[in-house]
Formats: sequence, C-alpha cells, structure tokens
Amino acid sequence: MNLSKIKQIRMFGIVVGIGMVMGLIWWAVVEYSDISPVREPALEVSQYKEIAKVPVVKMRMHIVKEAETLADIAAQYEIDVDTLRAANENLTDLIHPGDKLLILPKKGVLYTVTEGDTLWRIAKLFDVEVKNILDENEKTESFLKIGEKLFIPGGKPRNVEAASLPASRQISTQFALPSVGEISSPFGLRWGHMHEGIDIANDFGTPVRAALAGKVSYAGWLGGYGYAIKLEHREGYSTLYGHLQRIGVEKGGFVNRGQVIGEMGSTGNSTGPHVHFEVRHNGVLINPTKVLP
Ligand SMILES: [Zn+2]
Repeated sequence: MNLSKIKQIRMFGIVVGIGMVMGLIWWAVVEYSDISPVREPALEVSQYKEIAKVPVVKMRMHIVKEAETLADIAAQYEIDVDTLRAANENLTDLIHPGDKLLILPKKGVLYTVTEGDTLWRIAKLFDVEVKNILDENEKTESFLKIGEKLFIPGGKPRNVEAASLPASRQISTQFALPSVGEISSPFGLRWGHMHEGIDIANDFGTPVRAALAGKVSYAGWLGGYGYAIKLEHREGYSTLYGHLQRIGVEKGGFVNRGQVIGEMGSTGNSTGPHVHFEVRHNGVLINPTKVLP
C-alpha cells in the first residue's frame, strides 16, 4: 500500500463523513421544520375526503308506498320515527303514497343553522360533542353558514315549533277549523317542493271560516292561490285561505273566530275544490296541524 492509496482512502473517509453529517442535518431539517420541500403540501378538503374516506352524510329519498306507516319506513332503514321526523321538517302522520321522505343514514338530527348559532351552542343543544359534528359533516373548521344543514349524530330531535309557541296558548289564539273536509295534502316537503299549508278538501261552496278573530289584511285574487283571504290575529299569528270560489269579507274588516269568510272553490293553481290554509307566527310559517284542534 503506497502513500497515494492511503491518501485516497483518507479522502474517501472524509467525503463519506461529510456526507453523513450533511444527511443528518437534512434529516433534522425535514423532521423538525415545516420548511422542507419534501413534505406533502396541505391537503385540499376534497382530497382529504377521498383519502380519509370519511363517511359522507348520504341522504336517501323514500317514496311512500300504499299503506305504509312512518314506523314501517323507519324500520326499513333501521332508523327510528324520531330520526325520520328530524330529517323531514313538519312531517305529520298523514303521509300519502308518492310522498317523498328524506332518510338519514343513521339515528340523528338534521339541523339547519340559524343566525347566532355556533358549533358549541348546537353541540350543547343536542348534548353531543363538537368533534362528532365536525367529523360527520366533514368539516375542518368551525365556521358555519346560515341555512347550512348539519347532521347531528345521535342527536334527539327537539320540538322546535313547540318551543317557539307559548306553552299554553291563550283563549284568544285557540284556533278553530277553517273548514270541514279531508286533509288532502299535509304541510311540508312534497315532491321536492315545500307545501306551505294544509289542503282541506270538500265540495264547492263548503263554508270557510276564520280560524281566529282578526282583521282582514287581504281579500282578492292572489296568483296561484286564486281568490284568497289573509287575516291578522293577536299574538303575531296570521292565516291565509286560498282557492276560494267566493270571498265574503273585505280588506280592513274584522272577523270573529269561526265566522264564515268565504266558500271553498278551486281557483288559482288547484285541481279540485279545497281550501289551502296557511298559518304564520311572527311571519314564520308553521304547520297548521300543530295549532288546529
Ligand atoms: Zn295547498
């Protein structure tokens, strides 16, 4: 072994040593800092979904068949009637073949974000964890949009309407039936559209009555409602009666509870004689069956 060979080996050793030190420094940089270009960039939300396979809140649509009950439908999807109600606002027991119902993937509540809501407040309301709400809805941040729908896993439905109504209604706001007949169409989501009232069907000319005492705020033709009457009542209630064949009151007049105000007809967008009856409380639509006797 000559001198130059020894120098070569020493040189090689130095190069390897430097390389190892550099490697160590590189490793430390990679491991302990965020500036390394080797690291993957932060994932976009859409990529995150794909990679993490987080279960999406998949809603199905059920079309009601002849003779089905809410309990039958709930059982089919292994949910309960409460969950069915929670996903279909203002669902009553009056379902008809062809009605469309939203089906949640598991027990829980579909909650619509309203002004002033925070995730923490919602979590507290339903007694669930904020984290569960974030996970189930694939949210990575707590920012909420008004009108946004959140699936609340395991959340028990709250009777929002009942909560917004006074615990015991005053005599002055006890509703009378606007007409006699068959409820031919309930309040709520039907055929993908919101049916804003109930339809009571009977013969042409069946008396239509004021559900509460009040003032006539509208009486006349009202687009698809045909000949319609709007009444303003106490405690923030208002009612609407549509598709009339005859109007028996005038705007500005006062009516008593149960007083005949018109006759059932089929004017406007209507396929047969019925009264379309809507109720609002402080301007917000409510399900008339919740206030009717
Ligand atoms: Zn209607």
